[in-house]
Amino acid sequence: MGIRVENISKHYGTFRAVDDVSLEIKNGSLVALLGPSGSGKSTLLRMIAGLETPDAGQIWLVGENATYRSVQQRNIGFVFQHYALFKHLTVRENIAFSMDLRKHPKHHVRQRVEELLELVQMQGFGDRYPSQLSGGQRQRVALARSLAVQPPILLLDEPFGALDAKVRKDLRVWLRNLHSEVHVTTVFVTHDQEEAMEVADEIVVMNQGRVEQVGSPAEIYDNPATLFVMSFVGPVNVLPSHVGIVPNKNATSPSDKVFLRPHDILIKTEPSENAVSVIVERIIHLGWEIRVELVLQSGETLNAYLSREQFHQLQLRKGQRVYIQPKQTKVFSAAYALR
Ligand code: ADP
Ligand code: MG
Repeated sequence: MGIRVENISKHYGTFRAVDDVSLEIKNGSLVALLGPSGSGKSTLLRMIAGLETPDAGQIWLVGENATYRSVQQRNIGFVFQHYALFKHLTVRENIAFSMDLRKHPKHHVRQRVEELLELVQMQGFGDRYPSQLSGGQRQRVALARSLAVQPPILLLDEPFGALDAKVRKDLRVWLRNLHSEVHVTTVFVTHDQEEAMEVADEIVVMNQGRVEQVGSPAEIYDNPATLFVMSFVGPVNVLPSHVGIVPNKNATSPSDKVFLRPHDILIKTEPSENAVSVIVERIIHLGWEIRVELVLQSGETLNAYLSREQFHQLQLRKGQRVYIQPKQTKVFSAAYALR
């Protein structure tokens, strides 16, 4: 096991930032910690790194109990959102820093720095200072620096969070490729569900200091364990159960809510058994996707997302009456929703 977190809690005053979290992260895997701002991701990561002390619970790193070990003893690579490069050192000196600190032989350091520059695709930038690099380049150097002493574990706290959307997308792909080369056990924190899904083999969804679900991106999306997960990992329509979207037998109580992804709505122009009548209220063109706002007889509105082909086949127009059928829905009880 790469990392094992056992019943870890951390309070700030009476506030529970991390609340009895247990987790297992396999050796060599790339796992995303996904959750909204304030859900305890950084606190958990900092406890794994040894930067924060848990109130209760234990942390095992590569098979050893590390709960009482210092940051230095844990030998973990760490990259934060804000560039932590030393401004007065060149790229090469930044990468060499922790090896120099540990008095690695000079020729070894020189060789390792060149290897790392190549690994993060920064050959030719070794003599520049951080101020002469773009944000994305600085984060790549920060990653090279964190990998210099070959840590068994790499922790990344929203490493691309401060970069613009295009660079962030490129770096996701880059990180995946890098991970398939070095296979270091990596925990990647993000509040962006798309980023988590694109980067990680496995996602840990956090909410209010607790783990809501652990699973592959597909499992989390197609089979959300809780209401929170369903609404956090992708768009969703939430409807009362009585509007007839699901067959009555599926709803257990009148207070149940039906959750329906906008991509999972079949639209037909002719009525049929089990199809619900709605009016097209608004049509929004978003490039490759068309969003259609629909109004039920009860007045509730819901969104359906269609591909351009589907949209053109249907020839939808505003004010038209159409018939919808869910491809799949999930019902969560209202009591659960309030958890
Ligand atoms: P995330 O990284 O998911 O955004 P954090 O782990 O940073 O969340 O924070 C979780 C909660 O704990 C937040 O509500 C935050 O305000 C609180 N918190 C974090 N660090 C401290 C601290 N040193 N003192 C008091 N509250 C803190
Ligand atoms: Mg954070």
